[in-house]
Amino acid sequence: MKNVILTGMMGCGKNTLGARVASMLGLPFEDMDAFIERSEGMTISEIFARHGEEYFRDRETEAVMALCKYPEGKIIAAGGGAPLRAANLEIFRKTGVVVFIDRDPSLIVKSLDTETRPLLADGPEKFFDIYDRRIEIYRESADIVLENHGSLAQGADKLAEIVRGIRLSNMRLAVIGDPIEHSLSPNIHLPILREYCLNPACDKVHVRRDGLGDWVKRVREEGVDGFNVTMPHKAGIMEFLDEIHPEAEFFQSVNTVVNKGGRLYGYNTDAEGFVAALEDRGVEVRGSRALILGAGGAAGALSLKLALCGAESIVILNRGSEKAEKIAASIRELAPSIKVSTGGFDTITISEYCRHTDILINATPLGMAGSDAGFKDLSFIDSLPKTAFVSDLIYSPPMTEFLHKAESLSLTFQNGLDMLIYQGIIADEYYLDIKIDRAKAARRVRLALGGKIDNV
Ligand code: NAP
Repeated sequence: MKNVILTGMMGCGKNTLGARVASMLGLPFEDMDAFIERSEGMTISEIFARHGEEYFRDRETEAVMALCKYPEGKIIAAGGGAPLRAANLEIFRKTGVVVFIDRDPSLIVKSLDTETRPLLADGPEKFFDIYDRRIEIYRESADIVLENHGSLAQGADKLAEIVRGIRLSNMRLAVIGDPIEHSLSPNIHLPILREYCLNPACDKVHVRRDGLGDWVKRVREEGVDGFNVTMPHKAGIMEFLDEIHPEAEFFQSVNTVVNKGGRLYGYNTDAEGFVAALEDRGVEVRGSRALILGAGGAAGALSLKLALCGAESIVILNRGSEKAEKIAASIRELAPSIKVSTGGFDTITISEYCRHTDILINATPLGMAGSDAGFKDLSFIDSLPKTAFVSDLIYSPPMTEFLHKAESLSLTFQNGLDMLIYQGIIADEYYLDIKIDRAKAARRVRLALGGKIDNV
């Protein structure tokens, strides 16, 4: 996002509104006058008194250069006289959107302390005079004018709406992975983003493990608004982020990164996407008995999310017991009342657990396009209750042998496409900082995919 630069007369509300809206939207805020006072070690009045206005204006230009440089995405309250210099305006225009906060000068005079404001020292007439001389410059140099003649709350609401609009224009996103060419991320995000943003972009960027640090530096410097993380970087990216959502921390996996004015926030939307996909099919997680095949990254996040959503019991079956046990231990810590079991990956064990299962999930790559490995024996699916729901996280091919077997038994089933779509929609909610009608957005994405992958 570009910087939002607030201009206007002293007392028009640049600082109060700017700070309040920055805190509402989680963006950094900079007060240019406070920056100059810190740098000079004296108040603005003292600088004027000791060195004169010209000296102050030079310091102001230095402050403009320092505050407007990367990372972008800040709300900056510019000094009242800053737009009077062409050099300052040029930097404002290059790095941000200029919002002139226009407040009736008689309202300002009523609320200002004439003692501490050097330009008010000679009385209100001088102030009205300055307003008349500057108003054209303020208006002409602004991209947007905010009429701030009402209450603080009304002004803040107006400014928040403007900042959200700025954030939504030219949203620049990316998806990183190794390899990355196969990624469907842009096909999922762009149809959603186009509903809300002007000219959104979502670039595929090939990033290797040893290139994560450089990529993050680029994101901060170039003001990339956010990025999706795909294999194999979901754990590796975490050390480069400033804040990690507690759920992502718990899963030890981040698939969505949001850039808020140079601070990078990590989220995980995979597991929530999986639960949203189940809900899309009317499958109730609360009180259900889930059986997960595999104990990799996806299985770990899903198991923990199912526990958070109130599943009655969770079984994790995997070739190696160590990974399954580790997930089970985390679930026990998170939700001690949930029954958790682990076991091996042989047909007899899976069949035995299938008898008491409501939701069976394949979280292994068995059956995935491009992989030779498949399930050698799918007879365990025969043991499922007739009401069980079968989910395969794989979406390519759309119908795996695993799902064919479920279909042959007239069980309800789902492939991994909806999980992929919903994790993207939830990521977009983080990028845009809004709530999206998820079911409607999912329909739009499926249409946009145009049969690229079947949703079953
Ligand atoms: P992962 O971390 O590599 O874990 C893979 C799991 O599968 C491991 O537990 C592994 O067992 C097991 N496994 C691998 N080969 C096996 C075999 N021949 N026999 C038995 N078990 C085997 O992978 P992941 O990220 O969790 O992904 C798992 C699956 O979910 C993949 O198919 C992936 O494409 C899919 N996925 C889909 C979505 C979506 O949005 N639809 C999102 C994420 C993942 P060991 O521990 O014994 O090695």
